[in-house]
Amino acid sequence: MNRGTRQVVLVTGGAGYIGAHTAKALYERGHQPVVYDNLSSGFREAVRWGPFVHGDIRDRARLTDAIDAHGVTAVIHFAGLIEVGRSVARPDLFWDVNVGGTAGVLEAMRARNVPRLVFSSSAAVYGQSGRDALAPIREADPKAPSSPYGDTKLAGERLIEAHCRAFGLSAVALRYFNAAGADPSGGIGEAHEPETHLIPLAIAAGLGAGSPLTLFGDDFDTPDGTCLRDYIHVCDLAAAHVAALEAPLPAGGFEAVNVGTGHGRSVREVIQAVDRALGRPTPHAVGPRRAGDPPSLVADPSRARSVLGWTATRPSLEEIVGDAVRWERHPAYGAGPRAFRAPRVADAAE
Ligand code: UDP
Repeated sequence: MNRGTRQVVLVTGGAGYIGAHTAKALYERGHQPVVYDNLSSGFREAVRWGPFVHGDIRDRARLTDAIDAHGVTAVIHFAGLIEVGRSVARPDLFWDVNVGGTAGVLEAMRARNVPRLVFSSSAAVYGQSGRDALAPIREADPKAPSSPYGDTKLAGERLIEAHCRAFGLSAVALRYFNAAGADPSGGIGEAHEPETHLIPLAIAAGLGAGSPLTLFGDDFDTPDGTCLRDYIHVCDLAAAHVAALEAPLPAGGFEAVNVGTGHGRSVREVIQAVDRALGRPTPHAVGPRRAGDPPSLVADPSRARSVLGWTATRPSLEEIVGDAVRWERHPAYGAGPRAFRAPRVADAAE
């Protein structure tokens, strides 16, 4: 797949946070995104850069119809369930949607000879065991997911890799670290329901639109006692998908690549960045640790550079938090299309 060749890209989950930013990046690069989403957690208002197909990834006939109708030449597969806590309560749903759904996408691609896949994976595939707790994570580090969510992402990767070997597909799995921020031109951004992520919760607390933030533990073995994470601007993450789509991989090739900045930021540093962005202190209190939170999750992003030619261009926490604040103040967030804050649909509809 050469740079410059226009692709028609089926973007499953393209109505969600990272999917919508990637659809915009594809469009701006001259590709054609076709969003395929069941709107169980995404938003119709976030589909702006190409056609929309309302469908579930477990509906293989609908997937092949969408591929045929739009002349799809590649797939970026975001659609899936993401809440780690919920995966513990409902592993059945996570395996069905994240692994069964990925099998459906692969089968539809094989049926229609679509040769290239980019898959949303996660740093959750690594877990905590078998590595130096504070060292940057490399792709070859041990895989020991600590949740059913991480299990399903690792299983999805392995299914895809086996499919590449057996059927000549080429694929890149992108292992995301902490996606954050929003497109600075506004109008799309993070809107999870329920929201569990640090940056939007800290901003909501700072704006008085949410409860005071609970800081989950300040007694970790880290420089300031709070957890270190690798926050990656969502526009950088979107660019990594375009790079993965265009990467020169052989037929049958499979790559799993970390997508992060390589810089660890503590929870306290994030709170201070929100303080500065809002010009006031963020109400917060230290609480107990959250179950399963490792002290540090920071990428070694060198393979993303060598395999994809990609590096983060917006690693500054100031920029990430500033863009997130601009989004939370945007009329599309909450006040405009209310769907951006709509409650999620019942499990049965997923
Ligand atoms: N965190 C926190 N309070 C919150 C939410 C998150 O202290 O209300 C901490 C969490 O313990 C972790 C970091 O912020 O150290 C990032 O958490 P988030 O849920 O945003 O992402 P995760 O790293 O779990 O994918």
